[in-house]
Amino acid sequence: YEGITVRELADMLHVPANKVMEALLKKGILATINQAVPTEVAIEIAESFGFLAEAKKEEEEEVLIEEIPDRPEDLKPRPPIVVVMGHVDHGKTTLLDTIRKTNVAEKEKGGITQHIGASQVKLQDGRVITFLDTPGHEAFTSLRARGAQITDIAVLVVAADDGVMPQTVEAINHAKAFNVPIVVAVNKIDKPGADPMRVRRELSEHGLIPEEWGGDTVFVDVSAKTGQGVDQLLEMIGLVADILELKANPDKRAKGVIIETKLDRKKGPTATVIVQEGTLRVGDIFVAGITNGRVRAMFDDKGRQVKEAKPSTPVEVLGFEELPEAGDTLIVVDSEKKARDLALKLKTKREKEEKLAQGVRLEDIYKKIE
Ligand code: GDP
Ligand code: MG
Repeated sequence: YEGITVRELADMLHVPANKVMEALLKKGILATINQAVPTEVAIEIAESFGFLAEAKKEEEEEVLIEEIPDRPEDLKPRPPIVVVMGHVDHGKTTLLDTIRKTNVAEKEKGGITQHIGASQVKLQDGRVITFLDTPGHEAFTSLRARGAQITDIAVLVVAADDGVMPQTVEAINHAKAFNVPIVVAVNKIDKPGADPMRVRRELSEHGLIPEEWGGDTVFVDVSAKTGQGVDQLLEMIGLVADILELKANPDKRAKGVIIETKLDRKKGPTATVIVQEGTLRVGDIFVAGITNGRVRAMFDDKGRQVKEAKPSTPVEVLGFEELPEAGDTLIVVDSEKKARDLALKLKTKREKEEKLAQGVRLEDIYKKIE
């Protein structure tokens, strides 16, 4: 049987396994401790011990939109999507700021953020890197909650005067859990107390062994403040990206992930979308989570109006019927009717899931009737 074993059931009911076996025997079922019993029987047994139980509903896996398979020759190189992680105050914002050469950190202090939640930088050789502003853990967890894995590379910022701290370890665990390669930026090397070797030693204990010590993790010493080493860091991110051979088909119906949303007084509901495949164009009809719309206008990370966005490009999109949710997928479809239907279908599905999540499951028999 696929069901629960006698031992598991006994553990859940907090009774000795032989009591469960006895109860089963009364029903004419002879089962050993490691044997599984059918769900219906498990429910009856649970009830006989004064528990309320219900079988976990089969998850309904409905394909809402068919994937269009890509031929290898359709896949073109795309820029890496990079997230910056690390302990608080180790210099994430300053580093991103230096990379962008805009003064976002200063603006953030005044509460003004004009840029969208991601930006692209161009290296001297013409290669492009997309940086997410989303705090690293969010980029992994909340976006992932909806099944969107968008990050290709994580830059782990560790201050050389402070070393590995709790959130450093957290960041490493996140990146590892999602199988995202880490490039270490040993920051604040301009400071008198900086000890970049200590950072290397401490990170080695967490499995990040520097290449120069025979490991496979790239370490770059930087100062986000003075800009020292930042070009080299970008170069290294480019190299790691090359190894990953990131590709996407730009010549298909666009699909992207919503990384942030905003209700703008003038523009209406807007969202920053990172295109994952295909090319998103003004005029495209789309479904985005439980809402839909048509691309009315798009702006790039520098606030310039653009007509199209290719894979790995972040754009602010105008034209949503309602505000979508971060982590939702935006998919271009061929008619408004289809977009509406799909949005409604997903809405119904999510409502159902929510109800199910609140329901009782066999795994967490929760209530004992005395
Ligand atoms: P975050 O919390 O990781 O985003 O850290 P911030 O970028 O806000 O930086 C925290 C503090 O460290 C700020 O006062 C920065 O000016 C300072 N800081 C960041 N990078 C450097 C650096 O390379 N050198 C020095 N001396 N200070 C830095
Ligand atoms: Mg910050």
